[in-house]
Amino acid sequence: MPRPRRYGSAERPLAPTAPARRPPTSLSLSGSAPGRAGRFPAAVEPHPLSDPAANERLQAYESEVKRSFDRIVPVLKQLSALQHDDDFVEQAQRHALKELGHGLPPTILESAWVSQLDMRSLFAWCLFEAYEQISAGFFRDDPLQGQEGSESAEAFNAFLLSCGFHLLDVSPCADGRLAHAIAYALRLPFGSVRRRPHAGAMFDVENTVDRWVRTEHLRYREARPNSAHEPTRYLKVVVYHFSSRDPGHEGCAAHGSNDAAAAAGGLRRLQEFQQAVENSFCCGASVDLLLIGLDTDTDAIRVHVPDVNGHTDLDRWLDALEAYAATQDLPAEAARDRLLALVLSARSGNGDTIADGAVDPGMARLITRLIEHNISQIDFVRAYHDGAYADAGHAERFIGVGIGFKEIHLRNLTYFAHTDTVEEGAADLDVGVKIFKGLNVSRGLPIPVVIRFDYHGSVPGARERAVLYCQRTEDAICNRYPDLVDSGLLHTLLSVRDRDRHVPAETVGSSIKLYTSGGH
Ligand SMILES: [Zn+2]
Repeated sequence: MPRPRRYGSAERPLAPTAPARRPPTSLSLSGSAPGRAGRFPAAVEPHPLSDPAANERLQAYESEVKRSFDRIVPVLKQLSALQHDDDFVEQAQRHALKELGHGLPPTILESAWVSQLDMRSLFAWCLFEAYEQISAGFFRDDPLQGQEGSESAEAFNAFLLSCGFHLLDVSPCADGRLAHAIAYALRLPFGSVRRRPHAGAMFDVENTVDRWVRTEHLRYREARPNSAHEPTRYLKVVVYHFSSRDPGHEGCAAHGSNDAAAAAGGLRRLQEFQQAVENSFCCGASVDLLLIGLDTDTDAIRVHVPDVNGHTDLDRWLDALEAYAATQDLPAEAARDRLLALVLSARSGNGDTIADGAVDPGMARLITRLIEHNISQIDFVRAYHDGAYADAGHAERFIGVGIGFKEIHLRNLTYFAHTDTVEEGAADLDVGVKIFKGLNVSRGLPIPVVIRFDYHGSVPGARERAVLYCQRTEDAICNRYPDLVDSGLLHTLLSVRDRDRHVPAETVGSSIKLYTSGGH
């Protein structure tokens, strides 16, 4: 057994212990050095613990979904060239059906001969169509194989309980580069996790206390997922992010692209939540906390391993790239044992002077599993993105405003402005609009905004209220960005979803009001 090594940022080694049989890949362990973001040769064999079949399936889903958005512009360019032909409407419909899988609103096409084809409305219409198709496909086919009740979700729930946790509640940053954190980076069945993205991962404490109360109440009343008498805990996780390639610019915007500030902000919010539960409820009520960082270039996580008392160090973590390098030449079972040893030796506090028992055994098992899952994702990025994503910055396809979007699990697809009320989400939305001015408006394309409010179908009047929230949000957007809206450079789709059932979102309105016959 090698001597335990520290993993604090100041003392992390510059190179992993290189395996004898394989030359060290240029794994970047100096996470802050620009240009050293873990570039891997494309054709290296996968890690013994990674799951190439799952990687292939996830890649197929991601590229299919992104293709459905990215082929809109080329198709519209082709239509633009045809718009003065005599049989333009028929040609356009045929072409759209073949390339996009749906027709186009006839009203827009038919007026093309009088003036220019209204490309802005057409683009927004196609984009909203793509979103609806993805939502429908997600709930129909379960492409990520992680819905509630699925085999993988049931297995993970049992594992989680065996680690001593009855609920896993994760708040990643709302940045689109973390939208895949659950299903891809951490490889968790989405049906097993409560996900609440917030700008800077700064989740709402009161709201989370409410959720904790509901969770404990359910255990007390219905023994779901287990009885309240069993000594399991509610686990709240924050996933902050940083960029190994360009730490000063491509980190978390909400924390000034400063990863130390992002980690500190996340930990502070976690501690506030814990304090809120402890102060509000007696009888030793508490929750467990876990702080994770995600490198948005390589998708490698770093886990701040808490000690048995729940203490978390900000400057000490286990880097999954480092764990990857240390285990890549071992047989699977030995690699798992080694991962656990690495987790234990990376613990917060005076690690080296305390025995291995200084990490809660259930917490250690869970973190080991998360690192193992992340190893698959590291191989995913190696195999399909040459070790680090080409789109280091923002490349989202639409803005999502409101509450819901359970079906969105892809990196850089959606910029989220999570909001109960417009006032509350205005700052997040401003950031999103600014991003899309660069991505879309600069090319003459509108900003597509999908407004979404999920509701509990079992609650009387809930759907009507959700529709009302959508309309209020749309009104507020029109008031906030009148120039963009008036010039057709910002379009909205209004949708609601019954979260009590496994059904797709339902469209209830759109700014493309003239053309509602197509479902918008
Ligand atoms: Zn962020």
